[in-house]
Amino acid sequence: MRVIVIGAGVVGASIAYRLAQGGAAVSVLERGRVGGGTSGSSFAWTNSNNKTPRAYHDLNVAGMRAHAALRDEFGATPWWHGGGSIEWESAADHAAHREKVERLRAWGYRTEWITPRDLATLEPDLDLRAVGEAPIAYYPDEGWLDPVPYAHAMLSAARGHGARLTCGLAVTEMVSRAGRITGVRTDDGALHEADMVVNCAGRWADRLGPDPRLPLAPTIGFLVFTPPAASSLSRVIRNPVCHLRPDGAGRLLLHRDETDALLAEPRDPGPDSPEARDLVARATRLLPGIGPVTAEATRVAIRPIPRDGLSAIGRMPGVTGSYAAVTHSGVTLSPFLGIAVADEILNDIERPELAPFRPARLLN
Ligand SMILES: Cc1cc2nc3c(=O)[nH]c(=O)nc-3n(C[C@H](O)[C@H](O)[C@H](O)COP(=O)(O)OP(=O)(O)OC[C@H]3O[C@@H](n4cnc5c(N)ncnc54)[C@H](O)[C@@H]3O)c2cc1C
Repeated sequence: MRVIVIGAGVVGASIAYRLAQGGAAVSVLERGRVGGGTSGSSFAWTNSNNKTPRAYHDLNVAGMRAHAALRDEFGATPWWHGGGSIEWESAADHAAHREKVERLRAWGYRTEWITPRDLATLEPDLDLRAVGEAPIAYYPDEGWLDPVPYAHAMLSAARGHGARLTCGLAVTEMVSRAGRITGVRTDDGALHEADMVVNCAGRWADRLGPDPRLPLAPTIGFLVFTPPAASSLSRVIRNPVCHLRPDGAGRLLLHRDETDALLAEPRDPGPDSPEARDLVARATRLLPGIGPVTAEATRVAIRPIPRDGLSAIGRMPGVTGSYAAVTHSGVTLSPFLGIAVADEILNDIERPELAPFRPARLLN
């Protein structure tokens, strides 16, 4: 089977790998560079921490397990960092936090309440005054990903099975004949024929056919990167001051939902902006030892969110030969999606895990 995968983010790379491994002749067409879309500007926390409904929670757990399983397959997964995550909430949200933890436990998700002393052992550089009296949750199976090295590793493995990757080539349209997608046209005018086209174009997926287009409800995300800073932080920390995690060589990655909400348009305000300075000041409250430090870089990205907030994974209705894989939580989900989507395309079966997330539900 000849398959074209549009997009070399974490999702396209994972699907390309499993399709090629399964024997398909895979061609990945990427407009820019590997991981240069949303994947390269993601907080990239692998989790199923607050995903509802249950089917979406289970899908994310499958993603977490698939990340862990890659260790056996590849021998080492230098792109994935485990060690769990730590979370506390402001006083107004303590009851909701307890409720969430109880729900996660009832769903079999590993969660522990830890003491400030435990926290000091796990993350000695955190200033416990920022935690106050808040209950502290620890999620041992969570972690984070380096999305670009991950996508590169999956594409390298795909190439080992004969896949071809072309960067700097944009798909301009899907080509159809008699109700069947027969390939794509690219911006150099070339026609690329295929038996199946998989749309992994993320937040740009709605710009490609077939009609009707997938309805997306994207949101803006703003990330701040510090220079290498004097901290031993080794986990994802989520809390009311600001979310943070390591980002290699001592750098910290900072994020706050409330700051995202301040950005009315997807324009990067830059490291000298009040938004970036505020996030760094907040990180310094949590980790006083890093100060004084200023933001080194900022990134703005758009989350590829299907209209109802869940994933859109499956064959596009009304035509044959067209499959879409578009989702927020793509960092968490991608290794599982690779396996499940390849299974559906190559073996013509319906994976029950994907049944609630078909694109058709969004197109009525
Ligand atoms: C601030 C922020 C924080 C996030 N935090 C998390 C998190 O903690 N955990 C989590 O799991 N997820 C998180 N996400 C979401 C996650 O990053 C995305 O779901 C994931 O990166 C999507 O990957 P993708 O491969 O589908 O898309 P992308 O990485 O955007 O890849 C799509 C690719 O398609 C290419 N493309 C587009 N159009 C064309 C075309 N016409 N022709 C050829 N190529 C094309 C693009 O160039 C791009 O490289 C976050 C997102 C943001 C913005």
